[in-house]
Amino acid sequence: MTTAAPTPLTLAWLNDAPAEAALAALDGLYEHSPWIAEAALRQRPFTSLAQLKHAMVRVVREAGREAQLALVRAHPELAGKAAVAGTLTAESTGEQARAGLNHCSPEEFALVQRLNAEYGARFGWPFVLAVRGPRGEGLHRREILATLQRRLQGHPEIELVECLRNIDRIAEIRLNDKFGAAPILGNPVWDWAEQLAVHTDPGYGERGELTVTYLTDAHRACAAQLQAWMRDCGFDEVRLDAVGNVVGLYLGSDPSARRLLTGSHYDTVRNGGKYDGRLGILVPMACVRELHRAGRRLPFGLEVVGFAEEEGQRYKATFLGSGALTGHFEPAWLDQQDADGVTMRTAMLAAGLPATLEAIAAEARDAARYLGFVEVHIEQGPVLAELDLPLGVVSSINGSVRYLGEVVGVASHAGTTPMDRRRDAATAVAELALYVEQRAAAAPHLVGTVGMLEVPNGSINVVPGRCRFSIDIRSTTNEVRDAMAADVRERLAAICERRGLAYRLEETVRAAAAPSDAAWQRRWEAAVAATGLPVHRLPSGAGHDAMKLHEVMPQAMLFVRGENAGISHNPLESTTADDMQLAVEAFLHLLGTLSQDTP
Ligand SMILES: [Zn+2]
Repeated sequence: MTTAAPTPLTLAWLNDAPAEAALAALDGLYEHSPWIAEAALRQRPFTSLAQLKHAMVRVVREAGREAQLALVRAHPELAGKAAVAGTLTAESTGEQARAGLNHCSPEEFALVQRLNAEYGARFGWPFVLAVRGPRGEGLHRREILATLQRRLQGHPEIELVECLRNIDRIAEIRLNDKFGAAPILGNPVWDWAEQLAVHTDPGYGERGELTVTYLTDAHRACAAQLQAWMRDCGFDEVRLDAVGNVVGLYLGSDPSARRLLTGSHYDTVRNGGKYDGRLGILVPMACVRELHRAGRRLPFGLEVVGFAEEEGQRYKATFLGSGALTGHFEPAWLDQQDADGVTMRTAMLAAGLPATLEAIAAEARDAARYLGFVEVHIEQGPVLAELDLPLGVVSSINGSVRYLGEVVGVASHAGTTPMDRRRDAATAVAELALYVEQRAAAAPHLVGTVGMLEVPNGSINVVPGRCRFSIDIRSTTNEVRDAMAADVRERLAAICERRGLAYRLEETVRAAAAPSDAAWQRRWEAAVAATGLPVHRLPSGAGHDAMKLHEVMPQAMLFVRGENAGISHNPLESTTADDMQLAVEAFLHLLGTLSQDTP
């Protein structure tokens, strides 16, 4: 065989090439650090680019701190002296120029120099950022400066990991370039998410924040946009349902065949992210677009729902959208008022919805006509990012129980009340909070949080007489959750007994765990494995629409890694077009296996 690398590179060539030729072909992926590609190439053959990328990332993770620091230090400063002197590598020059860093104004240039110097002094290595960004087309100078300013505040250990992740992302983009492999299925998903995010509620857009709550103008604009895109994608039927859900149907080869239900929500929390919920609508849309382009019909129908309401922001009606499909719409919700005194009924009528219980009840789905429900969602947590995995399979959506409580002691003089005569309500709750932490940490897949802790009218010189608190307990199974809840209640009673205090505790929320259906979870696992990536199962700590559909049909979810340590319900929530590409590929794979399973 020939040792000359083809342009663009191919995996087939790389898998068979002599070691030196293969290494030469991967030159420049990691700045001045050929040892990474060299170690990864020992794991040949690769079945996918995603697998090769993951192999290189693992080499970096397992390299040890000294090698990692050397790798970070091999990177040039952004718009730094090397850029001015023209001594950057060819790859870095192109990337920095694309981000417009060679066109800084004198003020911007001075600011970058100052921040670079501060950063170097604080961490001892240069600021590393994948300036081509999550879409690969380049971040704006403004975003780069904001990121530098934000990360300057970070903890050194977390910042080192952040630099390594950015180095992996730089290598990913460079590798794509070598292979001529653009994420052509992920890019439209990324672009859709961006375009959908231009619609935001009044007062938020001015601050650059994304807030889309139930049936506002921005919310209705999103619904209209989703419907238009669904039509463009080739859905056969697109409609707005009685509660404002956007419903798109791609008929099966037999139009009366059972359907696969999928989707997620398009409303957001206040100042939320662009991907929470929306990814689960846009990924299946991209799949339908591919099927339609190929003129392909599945042996089952595919129904994609953009749920109108999941976050419970404008009205206390969480899961209203998916609840309508399961027949769980609370009649009292129609009379509920928002902060401005607008009832849900009025809001619905203004949005052109019928606002009658009959019309809403008619949206309830007959589960017998569906194969099941699947949902793609951004992880909203740090697990996949820490494992360097773009995708993860959800094993269960955690069940939760929440309490609001108050301990009552005696408010007394901080100077005159001896330590053995006190009835301090706050230290009692402090004891309880430590117990919650310790009890939850002692079992896997169990979390407990005391999120509110308040001494009403407390004073610096008064022993706290009252303390209000909250408890939130979640686990993959109801049994594990309930066992901890029982222990916590028992401990609270014991603490108050010992300290001579009174208390009350009120259960405010109880949601059952929703374990993934075994067969559907296996389909997601097969889909992830088909991308060449390791399969990782994880529970979902947050609630999702799938939790609601779980009440009537089998369900399973796929998680997509979040950037910035998986932060969510925050404008920093992000994923890359490459991760979205893998999500679309996994979804198409699931549709493919289901086509074979379905008679
Ligand atoms: Zn969500």
